[in-house]
Amino acid sequence: MNNFQYYNPVRIVFGEGQIEQLAELVPTDARVLITYGGGSAQRTGTLDEVKTALAASGNREVFEFGGIEANPEFTTLLKAADMVNEHDIDFLLAVGGGSVLDGSKFVALVSSLTEEDGTVSRDKAWDALTSYCRDIDSAVDLGAVLTIPATGSEMNSGGVINYSERQAKLPFGNPLAFPKFSILDPLKTMTLPERQVMNGVADAFVHVMEQYLTYPVNAKVQDAFSESLLKILIEEGTAVKADPENLETRKNIMWTATMALNGLIGTGVPQDWTTHMIGHELTSLHAIDHARTLTIVLPSVLRELKDSKKDKLLQYARNVWNITDTDQNDDAIIEEAIKQTENFFRKLGLPVSLADVELDAAAIDPIIKQLEVHGMVKLGEHSKNDLAVSRRILERAVTSHA
Ligand code: NAP
Ligand code: FE
Repeated sequence: MNNFQYYNPVRIVFGEGQIEQLAELVPTDARVLITYGGGSAQRTGTLDEVKTALAASGNREVFEFGGIEANPEFTTLLKAADMVNEHDIDFLLAVGGGSVLDGSKFVALVSSLTEEDGTVSRDKAWDALTSYCRDIDSAVDLGAVLTIPATGSEMNSGGVINYSERQAKLPFGNPLAFPKFSILDPLKTMTLPERQVMNGVADAFVHVMEQYLTYPVNAKVQDAFSESLLKILIEEGTAVKADPENLETRKNIMWTATMALNGLIGTGVPQDWTTHMIGHELTSLHAIDHARTLTIVLPSVLRELKDSKKDKLLQYARNVWNITDTDQNDDAIIEEAIKQTENFFRKLGLPVSLADVELDAAAIDPIIKQLEVHGMVKLGEHSKNDLAVSRRILERAVTSHA
């Protein structure tokens, strides 16, 4: 196991009816900006519930900023950051999924990057984003009410921002972006369309894979946790498709997705975020849902890199998919594990090739160009996945192997 420090200050408040805890969790004299997405928080009544809880104690002033897009837009977020300054906001309360949370983290970090006239500087915010926001040293406090289990953003300090004009979807991370708390009420996930439920299961699954499927460093805790999370996602992903009303299933999916990307399984181990980085380009160029880009790319990453990932792929085959047929050679065992992975994604209704989303080989060149523009030229646990490797991964992804 490699050396590591683990730090995670996020208070998780889990369970039905826990939104009322906002009365205790948000400072009583705060000037709060509630941020939310395209309308689901209003439609489902969650926004009203949040406002009622905030009004139940203290003398908070509450403002609202709605309309944060799925794949949150840089330009929209700068408007929210201006609102922070205009109203002296000292607490951001994100109500929604990864997009609202990530967007609100970005707002919290960039609202101090102003021009002389007091508006938030587009150039300074862009410069900050292109250097992962890592040099920003102050931020507005942030809390979250999560409405979709998927990203783990509720318990990490990262995010991903889309800037359509520049065809860029870029990640950032800064410890100041850890939420002070996140409320996880599994009942809130019941209103999700099936597509979003399945996207969430797949995103969490790929998060685990990218921290697990590299090369062994004898990290037994991380490996066993990762394998458990993968098995739970396979079991509960299949269960929620068959019986979406089962609250116990929803609870397990919600906590698993949080555990998948709160830093714990990624401590002291190599990581390979190639699938996410290629996936971001697919979203920004073709507006494909985040998770669906991942289910397209992951199987091809595993096939292309099967030699350098061999030991872990065999462990994955054995411990996650119970492939124990000793008559098969290693390559056959690995291919079977990758096929099982694809079949699982397919069962959830997710694409596993570019053809599945009506793209073909012509999509590859623009993706490679954008990877180059964004400096994604040394991906993977060995920093050896250059543009030629990414191209081969995408060529494998054109049509399905399953
Ligand atoms: P999302 O983009 O936040 O939301 C997806 C859709 O679900 C939206 O249309 C939203 O509608 C709707 N929705 C949310 N909650 C709902 C509910 N309870 N009932 C009905 N509809 C609901 O989804 P996400 O998968 O959580 O986030 C994806 C984003 O996170 C991507 O940009 C991705 O790149 C990023 N990401 C971040 C991390 C990280 O660590 N920070 C990791 C992976 C991915 P409304 O807009 O109307 O609310
Ligand atoms: Fe993700």
